[in-house]
Amino acid sequence: MLSDIAFDKLFIGGEWVDPIDGGVRDSIDPATGQHWTQVAYGGAKDIDRAVAAARTAFEGPWRKMPPWERAALMRKFADLYATQVDALARIESQDNGRAIRESRGDIGLHANYYHWFASLADKLGGRTIPMDDSVHAFTTRHPVGVVGAITPWNVPMMAAAWKLGPALAAGCTVVLKPAESTPASSLALAKLFEEAGFPAGVVNIVPGDGAVAGARLVAHPDVAKISFTGEGSTAKTILKTGADTLTRCTFELGGKAPHIIFADADLENALNAATGSAWALCGQSCALGSRVLVERPIYDKVVEAFRERAGRVRVGMPLDPATHMGPQAHAQQLDKTLSYVAIGQNEGAELVAGGKRIDRDGLSGGYFVEPTVFASVNSGMRIAQEEIFGPVAALIPFEGEEEAIAIANSTPYGLASGLWTGDTGRAHRVAARIEAGMVWVNTYRYIRWSTPYGGVKQSGWGRENGIEGLEPFLETKTTIISTTGKFPDPFV
Ligand code: NAD
Repeated sequence: MLSDIAFDKLFIGGEWVDPIDGGVRDSIDPATGQHWTQVAYGGAKDIDRAVAAARTAFEGPWRKMPPWERAALMRKFADLYATQVDALARIESQDNGRAIRESRGDIGLHANYYHWFASLADKLGGRTIPMDDSVHAFTTRHPVGVVGAITPWNVPMMAAAWKLGPALAAGCTVVLKPAESTPASSLALAKLFEEAGFPAGVVNIVPGDGAVAGARLVAHPDVAKISFTGEGSTAKTILKTGADTLTRCTFELGGKAPHIIFADADLENALNAATGSAWALCGQSCALGSRVLVERPIYDKVVEAFRERAGRVRVGMPLDPATHMGPQAHAQQLDKTLSYVAIGQNEGAELVAGGKRIDRDGLSGGYFVEPTVFASVNSGMRIAQEEIFGPVAALIPFEGEEEAIAIANSTPYGLASGLWTGDTGRAHRVAARIEAGMVWVNTYRYIRWSTPYGGVKQSGWGRENGIEGLEPFLETKTTIISTTGKFPDPFV
């Protein structure tokens, strides 16, 4: 089913079309540095026709469709998605270099997001508000309209599921603009929407440059809401671009998650989680515990364990099932990671493992970098404050709860966090004071469709997933109806 996808076309109004003012370009396989397919990218005019198609679908078939029928279509799509996990994972791994064992695991969960949100589609009622006898007051919920969904390159399919699931359940139509370097899996998604029988224009997929296609989507007067995942600096640009239309925005942005290990923790499990999360997705995820805060008595032991485990990470070709960690997703990200290794060394942190681009048999053409560990990091260093987005763990020692909390809260970010302790009271005390949208206690990166996810401070606005994830796609209307039909003359 996914074997004949036209990656060199855009999906607009239910049709596979050539770009009007965009073009076709090579998509680079980050494991080889070579082109692997040709992908279409749209310009401003392509975004305009996608928004027009989404608007027509919103006013027409999608708005008129009863919510249970909308839900049935979403379920059909989810079932199709579940049958294509392998194919989708291969496309995504080829496009962004994520190890196939990770892509399969992640994409294998996505059908649940669509099913879960489908189950909410016919439960979006309002409420009756108690009043005096002269009026009847109630609220109704309505889809906001056309949604612009803008996604990043690290987790294109996941970001799409988190946006499309609630948007479609709410009754919105969507223009999805995936990231420049990794649009292929999103175009594959279009194929499944087509196959499931969605009305034309309900979902439109237009890859394109952020500053052109993304900016036009944000500025378009017919786009009611932007659901964005990406960098904070891009979110700030989006706010300025969308100012004239006062476009509603939700933002899932970067992170510098503190992963706190107290001396009373179950160390083996804590290490499994902390090392796994430092190098998953080659370090390219907002939720990864890139700052590992370790209580002083166990600090040396943890540093040694990180060093030893870094040597056990199998770095290799993304499509090899044995590979633990693939390459960085593109050349700029590789350069960024290596520049932070140099910054860490100049700041006086101790490079315990890794730090270099991998230049050995079969991997030298790709953007591979060694799993990297810095010890003797203090919280003021740039490697402890800034999002690197590479497989670089910064191990920071602390003494006691107060210092752990102070360090955890010391960055502008507040997305995810984790803590490991054998003391339940401490777990509650510390979890309550960490400034983050997510706190995992004695586990890490457990994320589901039903659990709200998002950031505080500069990590974002709003939540995705859970009931909360639907709210940004809905407007509340209050209706007040007189039960008497009488309205007094104000001028007697
Ligand atoms: P990015 O901000 O560079 O790009 C994200 C998307 O925005 C892309 O589709 C891009 O084309 C588009 N874009 C760029 N400029 C634009 C503009 N002027 N107007 C409209 N759209 C524009 O981010 P990225 O590098 O693709 O992704 C990495 C970032 O995403 C990291 O900071 C990471 O932490 C964050 N992220 C956050 C979450 C989360 O759930 N909080 C999840 C994944 C990634």
